[in-house]
Amino acid sequence: MDLASYGDLAVRLVNTADPGRPEQDALVDAAGLEALLGDRAAWRRLPRTDALPRLRALRERLRRIVEDAASGNAARAVRELNVLLAAAPISPQVTAHDRQPWHLHVSEGAHDVVEAYTAAAVMGLAVQLTELGPDRFGVCAASGCRHVFVDTSTNRSRRYCSERCATRANVAAYRARRRAAG
Ligand SMILES: [Zn+2]
Ligand SMILES: [Zn+2]
Repeated sequence: MDLASYGDLAVRLVNTADPGRPEQDALVDAAGLEALLGDRAAWRRLPRTDALPRLRALRERLRRIVEDAASGNAARAVRELNVLLAAAPISPQVTAHDRQPWHLHVSEGAHDVVEAYTAAAVMGLAVQLTELGPDRFGVCAASGCRHVFVDTSTNRSRRYCSERCATRANVAAYRARRRAAG
């Protein structure tokens, strides 16, 4: 896994919840944790003491950073990101496994799954914020959705968290136009 892809971990964690739909929290049981870990097989073997509440707490802090960056408050986002970076158990190691080329791991010193996830997600967010710029962070523009995204499109045009929300918003706009016309 390369450094840039660590940033996806931050977005994935933030999007396990939507502040507008608290009843749909995807991080309340073991299945939710499994889904969050995705293909990180090595992390599955780590202890998971209090993993869910600790990850939900991290999720809240990451959301604040992304929302601050998205709303033009980059200075505050960076301040909070630096607090997380200073506290995160980041221990970089160059490694190769599963026939991959040499690449950087940042969670090698993790004592449990939350430390592993925190190190990688916080480092990834920092890489994305510095390499892409804070204005590339966004909150979905579809009504009723507050999922976040990182805009990696070449023309900086991304407005929605997913194809699903883009389609939903387009259909709603089309209906509104039809109502206005007829
Ligand atoms: Zn690896
Ligand atoms: Zn959305």
